[in-house]
Amino acid sequence: MQLNPWEVGVMFWAGHGPWSQSGDPGESIAALKRLGVRCGQLGVPGDLDLACASAWRDALARESFTVYTVFAAYNGESYADIPTVQRTVGFIPPATRAEREARTLAVSDFAAALGVPSIATHIGFIPEDDTDPDYIAVREMVRRVCDHAARNGQKFALETGQEPAEALRSFLIDVNRENIGINFDPANMILYGTGDPVEALGILGEHVLSVHCKDGVWPPENVAGALGRERPLGAGDVGMERFLGQLKAIGYRGPLSIERETQDRAERLRDIESAVSLLGNLRHKLL
Ligand code: MG
Repeated sequence: MQLNPWEVGVMFWAGHGPWSQSGDPGESIAALKRLGVRCGQLGVPGDLDLACASAWRDALARESFTVYTVFAAYNGESYADIPTVQRTVGFIPPATRAEREARTLAVSDFAAALGVPSIATHIGFIPEDDTDPDYIAVREMVRRVCDHAARNGQKFALETGQEPAEALRSFLIDVNRENIGINFDPANMILYGTGDPVEALGILGEHVLSVHCKDGVWPPENVAGALGRERPLGAGDVGMERFLGQLKAIGYRGPLSIERETQDRAERLRDIESAVSLLGNLRHKLL
């Protein structure tokens, strides 16, 4: 199915949870279609049995629903606060590196079975010192994932989070693979207190493969290590019209994935429904 420029989609997760009580792919897709979308990014939790690939492939075909990115998450990750993210998330923690590399390659194969052209993950806090052993090990791991994804005809997108734009740009250039890029999340830069996301998007423009439309407010100034708070789209500090204006300026024409992570299911669905409408209006105004 051909997607329109800036087609509005949703970041959602496989398995049991807010999208489906049974874990059935068809039930998740039906819930998404009720929100008025026909595409999205599929998140794969660390404990999902990847043998469900054929059930997903069949359900997507039956429902004419397009998944354009498969996201990998890993067992043992926690986003409680900034030190916990540094200790537990992505490719950075040495103890889980080998296990997570194997899982990422398996998720790439899972995505290939679904015919999805891009995989993504949050690799965690990249050290800024490029002689740091963790920096070197993670860069090599990212290269191996890129090479595996390339054999599956896929791009590999790094979720943006904590890195200042210049540091992330240097890392992407250092990885030096044609299929590496980013999934730009404007709210994460605010939640981690990294910098203005719209400026960052200007610096990283040529590397953007896909985007999250998520909103949030800056961390409290007086609590060390605290993260900012996620908010419904339009109710945080990103400034959606300014963000979409910058997407237009860099020439981005791909889909807009709404990401809303609040735990309350009814609240999440309600906020996504409002976000679909907000983005539809901005799309009409700006594109
Ligand atoms: Mg995100």
